[in-house]
Amino acid sequence: QAKQNGGDAHHFFVAEMNAHTTERLELEGRLRYALAHQKFTLDYQPQVDIRSGRIIGAEALIRWHDEQLGSIAPARFIPLAEETGLIMPIGEWVLHTACAQNKAWQDTGCAPISVAVNISPRQFRQANLLETITQALADTGLNPCFLELEITESTIMHQAEKSIITLEKLHKMGVRLSVDDFGTGYSSLSYLKRFPVHKLKIDQSFVRDINVDPDDAAIVTAVIAMARSLNVLTIAEGVETGGQLAFLDSLECGEYQGYYFAKPMSADKFFALLRNNQTELPEL
Ligand code: C2E
Ligand code: MG
Ligand code: MG
Ligand code: MG
Repeated sequence: QAKQNGGDAHHFFVAEMNAHTTERLELEGRLRYALAHQKFTLDYQPQVDIRSGRIIGAEALIRWHDEQLGSIAPARFIPLAEETGLIMPIGEWVLHTACAQNKAWQDTGCAPISVAVNISPRQFRQANLLETITQALADTGLNPCFLELEITESTIMHQAEKSIITLEKLHKMGVRLSVDDFGTGYSSLSYLKRFPVHKLKIDQSFVRDINVDPDDAAIVTAVIAMARSLNVLTIAEGVETGGQLAFLDSLECGEYQGYYFAKPMSADKFFALLRNNQTELPEL
């Protein structure tokens, strides 16, 4: 009896494994197809200066709609792209497209903003990262000071000493560096001091309950104060309510990003917003 149960469990396990592997292989196949046939797009989410209410940047966020599988979230396919190495060509495409788009907006005469591009862990550690970025800037003619690279705190903290060397090289190129998902990656103050970064992006998990959870409020207060003393800018992620924004403003957080202002949107929609934004007078 026991043996038979074990046998069933084993069969069940193998079937599960096969289903999982098949699904994964299918996704990988579709991902390769998407790359070869240019099926990715970028959405842009405004980054806003809290005091003036003006758009000062845009985060580029990859989108993938597959004809067979439908829309697939980056949280599902970016990890697979990492595992398979497809992140290198995908990341190159994102960099190139975001830089070209930002240059095109500038060429219309709009006040220049920065475009923020997410750099995945494997991309950050790849040997030719600097060449890839130099190439994207050269191909598109975008000034490096209008490109911001978002690197997560945990990516930086994995082999922190090596990361600092890479960050310093990027810093010398003139691109901006921001630490994404800050607060989730366990970096010590002694490291933080040595990161040549411009901005900390306060993770949305701390912002969500900022008005009701005293612990989150205390963490965000401390992060903003610490950033100020280190001469680093702060941007809060995932701001969804006016209450959250008011609290962040009272802490003198510099910038915010979130559904309260706007969800990520197509380049065309973003451009309409950008033009409008610049003819309006600041609210404060
Ligand atoms: P992230 O870089 O931390 O991006 C922020 C995520 O929060 C985005 O999800 C954005 O749509 C979402 N978000 C923005 N405002 C709000 C809000 O007010 N409330 C809530 N609940 N969510 C908000 P998205 O686009 O699904 O991207 C998820 C993650 O996938 C990103 O996290 C980033 O790690 C990764 N990713 C996205 N695009 C790229 C890319 O082009 N390259 C790489 N390497 N990773 C990317
Ligand atoms: Mg990001
Ligand atoms: Mg983030
Ligand atoms: Mg995140």
